[in-house]
Amino acid sequence: MSLFRPEIDRLAGYMPGEQPQDTGWTKLNTNENPYPPSPRVLEAINEAARGRLNLYPDPHGTRFRKAAAEVLNVDPDWILPGNGSDEVLTILTRSFAGTSDQIAFPYPSYILYETLADLQGARHVRLPLEPDWSWNFEKVMPIVEQCKLVFIPNPNSPSGNRWTWDDLVSLTPRHGVLVLDEAYGDFADHPHRGELLNSTIGTRLVITRTFSKSYSLAGIRFGFAMAHPSIISGLRKMKDSYNCDAISLAAATAAIQDQEWMQSNVARIRTTRERLNAALASLGFHVVPSQTNFVWATHPSGEHKRLYEALKAKKILVRYMTFPDVSWANAQTLDGLRITIGTDDEIELLIRALTEIV
Ligand code: PMP
Repeated sequence: MSLFRPEIDRLAGYMPGEQPQDTGWTKLNTNENPYPPSPRVLEAINEAARGRLNLYPDPHGTRFRKAAAEVLNVDPDWILPGNGSDEVLTILTRSFAGTSDQIAFPYPSYILYETLADLQGARHVRLPLEPDWSWNFEKVMPIVEQCKLVFIPNPNSPSGNRWTWDDLVSLTPRHGVLVLDEAYGDFADHPHRGELLNSTIGTRLVITRTFSKSYSLAGIRFGFAMAHPSIISGLRKMKDSYNCDAISLAAATAAIQDQEWMQSNVARIRTTRERLNAALASLGFHVVPSQTNFVWATHPSGEHKRLYEALKAKKILVRYMTFPDVSWANAQTLDGLRITIGTDDEIELLIRALTEIV
């Protein structure tokens, strides 16, 4: 007999993308940034490592919150640091959803939301997206209104599209919280700072951000939430006291203070993204216009798994994804390739390989 809670026994567990530990891979599968973090981050890490590692870190991440508040034009009380934005999403789930509450999220989308709801023992429901990744409000609003928590990644993954602010406001549950997961927000055409938090849905809105993508820091695990102080103070009760270590706090503080570095990498990635789009289109792929550091590509041949495997045989990793129960997909299962934007050289290698394989 299992000793685990039934919720855990029933769960398959979230499957992250492959992280090969040997060298020689062109890694375009988990939306990391191909460029290194700001040199100021490395200095800050060195300084933190030479510092007082025998002592616990600042449980409130005060220096980080001050630095972030300046950049985002909000007050430090509106910010909660976390051990990657996935941890922030966990804190939000545990804080707002009890076992009788319902959590919703778009589908196809980031599947971790579903895992988090299952771990919590809360009910979850998918908000089905249309074939062009838009919303059918008549279909989804009756579900949204029953929810305590709605997670929306904006831009979305795996599609890379971004919804309008008006769309998002309408998806706010009347008696619940809307979480905008902006893991890829910095790659979009007009990234916003903290101004959305002044909107009419102010105290029902949480925005999450990560340092894993635009700031090139997937290796240190750092993300944060932005919300009204009444929400942040509640979330603080849920988090571990020392959820962010001294090294990652120092790294994230230096990273957010070097906006110029981050933005110049984002600009390079956006340029490479358009080059990849054109090449994929000329190979017959359909590509969703992306506001992120990845693209969702499907091919009329439907041979996505074969393409993924043939690329892998050449040590090029992209993400082969399948989403069952999609009413508008072939045989009700959507599949395709999610390709992270690498350096120009990496993308050139990928295009050459795809030209041979397709
Ligand atoms: N949200 C979305 C939509 C993501 O794709 C990811 C990356 N897998 C995350 C959040 C988590 O990012 P991290 O935990 O590295 O901050």
